Amino acid sequence: MAVTIPFVRTFDFAYGRSDRASPLIRRVVARNPGPFTFTGTGTYIVGQGEVAVIDPGPDLPEHLDALMAAIAGERVRAILTTHTHIDHSPLARPLAERTGATVYGRAEPGQETGFEEANERGFRPDVQVLDGETIDGPGWTLQVLATPGHASNHICFALLEENALFSGDHVMGWSTTVVSPPDGDMTAYLQSLDVVAARNFDVIWPTHGPPVREVAPFLAAYRAHRLDRERQILEQLHAGRRRIGEMVPVMYAGVDPRLHPAAAHSVLAHLIRLVRIGAVETEGEPGLASEYRATA
Ligand SMILES: [Zn+2]
Repeated sequence: MAVTIPFVRTFDFAYGRSDRASPLIRRVVARNPGPFTFTGTGTYIVGQGEVAVIDPGPDLPEHLDALMAAIAGERVRAILTTHTHIDHSPLARPLAERTGATVYGRAEPGQETGFEEANERGFRPDVQVLDGETIDGPGWTLQVLATPGHASNHICFALLEENALFSGDHVMGWSTTVVSPPDGDMTAYLQSLDVVAARNFDVIWPTHGPPVREVAPFLAAYRAHRLDRERQILEQLHAGRRRIGEMVPVMYAGVDPRLHPAAAHSVLAHLIRLVRIGAVETEGEPGLASEYRATA
């Protein structure tokens, strides 16, 4: 039985416009729509007068201008990055140069990103943040949650005053998240979903698309979907399909074949986890071309 995730995709926005999202949150969407960014990167501005900017986005002059217009007359105290993929962090440095703000986040891991998503090479924040640390300003407190999985350096930010979470790409209302080895890690990803679920947030603000407001059922379905994929993989192994290249056309029969290479990386992410927990065996390091067997 397939799991249905209650996706939310209705999104009222216009590129470059600053929209009020909540009492403490404004959002400006960058014009970088695509298969992994939905309508583009949503940059959040937190607070009033002295603000934080979360995920400044891709290095697009038009987006920098839109952000500068949105914060005209205000002071930017902090620029926060959830991870170093090129749709999230590259505008941090230009925005810091214009505003004098401090950039917080985690350095680029210097590791292969796997499929599709590229890192901003050499990204270094001014301040490397730790799990649980807080960054605050007048009327707002942002707490760092380490959430590796989509990227090894992925973090989320909890806005304590609104019991809200800025989830970056860890949890997205419009889509599941790409978890692609080697930098993407499914074991870490599932643990990071539990970290978020345990906090009982009232609302989740992903960097792409609309907020998730039915948080608990959404996270439960989001997690169940991953475990269902693992059940399907074990089913494929029991049916004698032992290589990823044989499993993907069956498991993703309804999906555009152009997306099958991405699907193969996702299946690999699951197989690495299944090998780690002892449910599957393979010779040597699990890879795209490896042969796998179920242990039970
Ligand atoms: Zn992204």
